[in-house]
Amino acid sequence: MTAVSQVDFAKFEMGQKLDASAVPDNPWFAFMEADAKAILERVSPKSPIAFAFTELNGVKAGANFEDRYVLVSFGLGDLMCRLCAAVVNAGMFPEFGSATTRWKPEMVLPESVATSLKDDFFHWSDAYCPWRLDGDRQLLFAFLLCQVNRFVVLHEAAHILHRHGLRLPFPGPSVRPPSANKPKAPNTSPMASQARELIADSQAFHLHFGLLEQEFTSASLDEMRQLLAKKLVATPQARLRITLLAAFMVFQMLDSGSWTIESARLSSHPPAPFRMKAIYATAIDLKHPGISAPELVEEIRQARFLGSAVVDIGLNRFPQLGWLLKVNGKEFDELFADIYAEMSAWADPDLLRSG
Ligand SMILES: [Zn+2]
Repeated sequence: MTAVSQVDFAKFEMGQKLDASAVPDNPWFAFMEADAKAILERVSPKSPIAFAFTELNGVKAGANFEDRYVLVSFGLGDLMCRLCAAVVNAGMFPEFGSATTRWKPEMVLPESVATSLKDDFFHWSDAYCPWRLDGDRQLLFAFLLCQVNRFVVLHEAAHILHRHGLRLPFPGPSVRPPSANKPKAPNTSPMASQARELIADSQAFHLHFGLLEQEFTSASLDEMRQLLAKKLVATPQARLRITLLAAFMVFQMLDSGSWTIESARLSSHPPAPFRMKAIYATAIDLKHPGISAPELVEEIRQARFLGSAVVDIGLNRFPQLGWLLKVNGKEFDELFADIYAEMSAWADPDLLRSG
């Protein structure tokens, strides 16, 4: 890993390093940055992974393998702030502070989250965040923002942990001759790339849930965590719910909605709802002594409704319950089978077991 001062940010093509402590009207970049650094230290203590926001206005995150750097653009960080503020503004999670749920959707065509929130940057002001002085609501905002950013950061870290940047697949069973270890297709193929994405999503989900488990089962919770535990994340089921909600919010932010099955087959990333569905499939494998198999199934079944309720009420739009249905059907099942065929080549089996 190169010393931070020597890293040339130009090569990442995401703009220069953002000074997170100096973003006008937004102290939350510094908060997200501190949390991202802390969780990266926890998930990779022996081989450090660095983190930075960059100045790019577009919505983008990335991993640099050479310098072991996770990068999130200003545009994505700001969008996370705007979506979480919209959720808190709309009165979701009324057990926090004083909130009245407001939801009067108008008859407009469904829009992407980014389009719905495009008008303004986030402002840490009374006008933008009317709950700003309500300690409980502020804590809710901070917690949601932190979880959404964590999913993004852990996804990028997972690419590094699984050594996706080495551009070589894992060799597979050692009985195979070395010549058989070469990739079947060029690693730039869309299916290989999409396999790496689904592996990073799955790893991010498991790491994220594990972090919440560690944090909220500790014997001595600080005052803020006590409040969060009491109102939102008291049980492993509730912590799973938040983990899945964070992923749902991220994929809603990333979905432009402009893909088709044809474009999906050529893209480096599967469509956002497809990735969300794959996380629900991965969550079924979660092993936790405090969550029974039927409870796990029920949590995952409910997760899409909670995700939709939070985002749709937050954006004051009609329920978009058909979002995940868009990737149902034979053609998407075939796409999944083709991605799945590539997956074992791109996952570090030791990491998946320990995750
Ligand atoms: Zn990725």
